Parts: sequence; C-alpha cells; structure tokens
Amino acid sequence: MTRALRVRSYAKVNLGLEVLGVREDGYHELRTLFQTIDLHDDITLRPRKAGIVVRCDHPLVPTDATNLAAQAAEALRRYARIASGVEITIRKRIPVGGGLGGGSSNAAAVLLGLDRIWRLGLGPAGLHLLARRLGADVPFFLLGGTALGLARGDEVYPLHQQLRAWVVLVDPGLPVSTARVFARVDAGLTPRGNSSSIFYFVSRELQGARAFRLLVNDLEEAALEEAPALRGQARRIRGVLLKEGARLAALSGSGSSYFGLFDGARAARRACAALAAEGLQAQVTRTVTLEQYRGSGARRRAR
Ligand code: ATP
Repeated sequence: MTRALRVRSYAKVNLGLEVLGVREDGYHELRTLFQTIDLHDDITLRPRKAGIVVRCDHPLVPTDATNLAAQAAEALRRYARIASGVEITIRKRIPVGGGLGGGSSNAAAVLLGLDRIWRLGLGPAGLHLLARRLGADVPFFLLGGTALGLARGDEVYPLHQQLRAWVVLVDPGLPVSTARVFARVDAGLTPRGNSSSIFYFVSRELQGARAFRLLVNDLEEAALEEAPALRGQARRIRGVLLKEGARLAALSGSGSSYFGLFDGARAARRACAALAAEGLQAQVTRTVTLEQYRGSGARRRAR
C-alpha cells in the first residue's frame, strides 16, 4: 500500500493542424501532426485506502474533481472496479493554457501509471477508450513520439519516420482557452475539405524529404483574435526563430506557445539567447520519439 510511482508527463507541440469542419456530434474534424517534447511535469502516484486526492504547485491548476488527472484516475478506478484510492502530486513545468497539452498529458500519464500500480495489464490499447472520453488529445499521450491525429485528433497513427530535432519553446505567458479559440473558428468557418498541407508533408517524408514549410496551423488566426496582445509578440518570435535558421516556426495547438525546430543544438541555443535578449521567455528542449517515450515508461520507478 505504501509504494509510490513517479511518472513523467511530457508536453507536445502540433507541427501542423488543420480544421476540416464541424462534425455532426459538434466536435471538430481535425488533421494534426503531434510531437512529444522533452519538457515534462513530474507526477507521483501514492496508493491510499480510499478517495482520489490531487496536489499541484501551480495556481492555475484545479486540485478538485475537475483536474484531468483526477478524472483519469476516477474513470480507471470505476472501469476496473478498484476499491482503493490514490494521491496524485503534480509538479508543473508545462505552461498552463499554452497549447502544449499539459492537462491531457497528465491524464494519460495517470492512466498508464495506475495501470501498473493496480496491475491491470491494459496498456495503451486497453486504455484508449477511456482516454478519448477524457479528451481528444489524451489518446496521443498513451503513445507519444511523432504521430498523425485524425477525427477529433483522437485517432492516432505513429509515423514510421520519427522526428529528431532541437526545439526552442517560447511561452508568451498569455494563457489561451482552447474552447474559446474553437468558438472563434466556428464563427468564421468555411469547411476546408481541400486543406492538405499535412498530406503533402507526409508524402514528401515518405520520399525522404521533410518539407516543414508546407505545414500550417488553422487555429493561429483565431488564437490571435482571442489574445490580441499575442499578435505583436508572435511576429517578433517568428522573425527571430526564422532568422536564426528554424526549419519551422509555428504556434502549438490553440496557443499561446510558439516553437521553432532546429537541426543543431548550437543554432537552437543562439535562437533562445536572441529571444531572451528581446525580453521573451524561451527554453531549449528536444523532440521525444516514440521509442524514447516508451523507454521513459520503462524507467518509471517504484519507490
Ligand atoms: P489543450 O490540450 O486544450 O491544448 P492547453 O495545453 O492549452 O490545453 P492545459 O495546460 O491542458 O492547456 O490546461 C487547460 C485548462 O485545464 C487549465 O486552465 C486548467 O484549469 C485545466 N486543467 C485541469 N486539469 C489540469 C492539469 N492536470 N494540468 C493542467 N491544467 C489542467
């Protein structure tokens, strides 16, 4: 009963994101390229006799039953008919409301961790249905790496060619509500059935070339309308990243984090310093491939 498990909960960026339309169930039909990065929250799971308790060191993260990590634990507890409870301690490093999937990642990490603690043997495939009920981005975090997300983003297909790159992440410190960004998209939405940047990207990749400049994020304009203070910063961020040699400079998800992809560490560090000189908060991290993501699970330690 006293054994605790520490798990890493990684952030993601969206290398590209296309909004294809609104589905009959009210959700959006998406096509996106997900990528896990090395920035992570630390989660400790401590079994307890009863009840689900959440502790978190970030003021914007709720610690009641609305916390996605608590919802994940509760969903799995019911599904597997577990009578005992768990204490979930989250050390936040992933910016909240940054489009980096922090809440969704926490939920998936809790599902994977409790699957081990409670010895359920479900694995990513057995947890998929619970994950997609918790949120559209949660299934991706059961797998990680470079993956194509279809439908609501919850149908996830890992790419054969996993991306290895340095990532400069910029946090403008302006949390943006994903729901509000989608509402703005809807207000001006004409279904974009012909949007095919990701299709072309993946096709080129199969031929051994990576055409990052093809990729777009259909949520960016709506995010900039939602957070007007972001527009000026966005121009500066993109300018610096591209000047320093980024192969792709883009908004992640519904924002507000921007990122740049670099081939080398030195260029990434130079870009980071140039952003800092402009008063922008930036950090250097790396992509986490499917294999590395799986491996990090194996390192999860019981203490
Ligand atoms: P999205 O995955 O929609 O792009 P995001 O990365 O922009 O989301 P999150 O950091 O996941 O944003 O947080 C969005 C909101 O979810 C926060 O305002 C917070 O109140 C709530 N939330 C609930 N549980 C968590 C959690 N475990 N970690 C972070 N936020 C959480």
